[in-house]
Formats: sequence, structure tokens, C-alpha cells
Amino acid sequence: MRQAFAVYPGTFDPVTNGHLDILVRARRLFGSIVVGIGRNPGKKPVFSIDQRVIMLQEALDQVDIDKVDIVPFDGLTADFAREIGARAIVRALRSMTDFESEFALDIANARLAPELETVLLIARPEYTHLSSTLVREAAEQGRRIIPGSVPPCVEHHLREHYGF
Ligand code: ADP
Repeated sequence: MRQAFAVYPGTFDPVTNGHLDILVRARRLFGSIVVGIGRNPGKKPVFSIDQRVIMLQEALDQVDIDKVDIVPFDGLTADFAREIGARAIVRALRSMTDFESEFALDIANARLAPELETVLLIARPEYTHLSSTLVREAAEQGRRIIPGSVPPCVEHHLREHYGF
């Protein structure tokens, strides 16, 4: 029987060390992981879908991990996960605010695709205060990289994008 695999969906604008930690931990639970990069035009991502894919691929090349595919997608996560035959959706919780939104998402997803389970991993303390938004703001407004926030390849793209 083919091993169960999960989708780890997100905007990854850009991918951070917090995302990578969740990915490595999720990979220990599932035979393989598809990282679904949502185009999410409504969120007006700063980095293009191609840039987000490249940053994730470069970041993965620097981590000791196999059986991870990166797949951009449009539309609902539940539809995407179902289309590719995933068993579960992996998301992460950093705070009670994340809990509220993930709780609502799980209820919606359970109605949209009842065969899928959402697996919520709790972020490690060193990453609970980290977000792609904070990383971008520090780069844009402070011309700084928050120490320990992103892998070196993403730091390079941030410096190039914001010109510092
Ligand atoms: P989305 O727009 O779908 O929330 P994100 O890229 O912001 O996309 O996040 C994708 C997933 O990764 C979410 O479940 C989020 O909670 C989790 N995540 C984001 N930042 C971190 C972090 N610093 N540590 C652990 N998990 C994180």
C-alpha cells in the first residue's frame, strides 16, 4: 500500500526557519510531504510564486530531508489536498490567535473534504514569535535580517529584494 502523505500548505512569503522546523517534524510522521504553496493573490504576496518556490527549494537543499515535493496551487487547500490524494493537512500553532483561525479552518475543511484530517503541530518556543510578515518588515523598514529567522539562501533573496 502506498504510504500516507500529507500536504503542508502555506503562503511561504518567504519561508522561515519556523516553517522548516514544522516541515522536518511533519516528515517524521508521514512517508512524504507535499508543500503546497498557495498563490493566494488575495494576500498580495511580496514574493512571486516562482520566487517562493525557488526559496523553498534552496532552503530544502540545505536541510537533511527527502521525499518532499513543492507544488504551487490555486484555490482551496481542501480541494488541492483531495485532488492529489493526500491523507492529511499539516498546519502549525504558534499562539491562541493561530488556534482560533486553525480551529475555524479545520471545521470548514472537514465539511469540504471529510476524508482528510488536519494535524496541528505546536511551534517550538524559538519560533513562536516568528512570521514571514515580521521577517519582511525587518528587511524593508530596518534593513535587517532577524537573527536565526531564515536560512542563508532566503537572507540572500531578502537582501536582493530590499536592496541592502
Ligand atoms: P498561511 O497564509 O496559509 O497562514 P504561512 O506561510 O503564513 O501561510 O503559514 C503556513 C503554516 O506555517 C501555518 O500553519 C502557520 O501557522 C505555520 N507557521 C508560520 N510561521 C511559523 C513559525 N514561525 N513556526 C511554526 N509554524 C509557522
